Amino acid sequence: MVSEDPNRAPMPAAEPDPYLVAWADLRQRRRAMLLSLGAYLLGGLAALAIGRGPATRLVLLVLCGVCLVVTAWARRFRCPLCGERFSRGRRDGLLNRWCAHCRIGIGTPSPPHPAPPP
Ligand SMILES: [Zn+2]
Repeated sequence: MVSEDPNRAPMPAAEPDPYLVAWADLRQRRRAMLLSLGAYLLGGLAALAIGRGPATRLVLLVLCGVCLVVTAWARRFRCPLCGERFSRGRRDGLLNRWCAHCRIGIGTPSPPHPAPPP
């Protein structure tokens, strides 16, 4: 049976792995990019179904602008290992699973730190 000492100091919370935090950020950026693209396509179709007037053009312009801004934000993600942009360009695509520069895969944890000298 394990007894818990009520006077024991709580353990300090471990720092989250910085690489895993970076991968979560990348997934969030990509999710936002796909959502904005879907909103552009569905919103554009809905706006065209309603009419083709200046209001439709404005809706399409706003949705396209949002999509471009979110895509640019997603492309600005920096690799946690090499610090370069994760996607190099059109050739690598926007949804590549490895860094275009150092080839580290999404989800790879940070390497263990060497033990401090005694
Ligand atoms: Zn890299």
